[in-house]
Amino acid sequence: MTTCFLATGNAHKVAEIRDNLGPGVHLLSTRDVPSGIEPNETGATFEANARIKAVAWALHLARTPGLPTIHWVLADDSGLEVDALDGAPGVHSARFAARETGRPGNSPDGENNAKLLRLLDAIPDERRIARFRCVLALSPVIAGAPENELMARTRCVGGACEGRITRSAAGGHGFGYDPLFVPEGYTESFAQLGEHIKNSISHRARALVQLRELLTPPH
Ligand code: IMP
Repeated sequence: MTTCFLATGNAHKVAEIRDNLGPGVHLLSTRDVPSGIEPNETGATFEANARIKAVAWALHLARTPGLPTIHWVLADDSGLEVDALDGAPGVHSARFAARETGRPGNSPDGENNAKLLRLLDAIPDERRIARFRCVLALSPVIAGAPENELMARTRCVGGACEGRITRSAAGGHGFGYDPLFVPEGYTESFAQLGEHIKNSISHRARALVQLRELLTPPH
């Protein structure tokens, strides 16, 4: 069986990816390794940040003694693009509110959502168009391999989900901007629609369809 380490501490992402990949892939996450790292997501694109995380963790795991065999590191970088905000919050989705307050680290979902609603207050319904994007980066774990080799062997796939931003939060499922995002073809938010529907149409689900084809043990 292929063993894949998911480089995220976001339990919702882990659950969605586990659900999508099914029992054929043995998934580990940051909770399963004794010492973690926090790579700096300094990239200007989702792909750049996904690569940074995947390669940093692949190097780290290859150097950590006593771990079970891990074939791959999988990193997810994702976020929301709102047309009326010229693509913001984009790569800053997780720390959207903190960019104003100057506080370090990610912001609570409630603060990010409140800021988004505030910025879109004057925007009419027909212009509240947005999409979630997800890039998944897959790096092999190879003992002794230098960073540039891992970077060269890292593969990326992406997925998007079109929709629009509502005027108030609704629903209790999911995470992040889910209570504000109504996917195209639906009238309820991701947070109302629940995991089953979200996992069949989301940006992450679409990226995972492509990822499955890459997930064989590397040689
Ligand atoms: P990352 O962990 O640096 O990739 O940040 C992702 C951020 O984008 C999250 O903290 C959420 O704010 C937002 N995001 C990404 N995917 C989703 C999703 O599926 N639903 C809701 N928000 C999401």
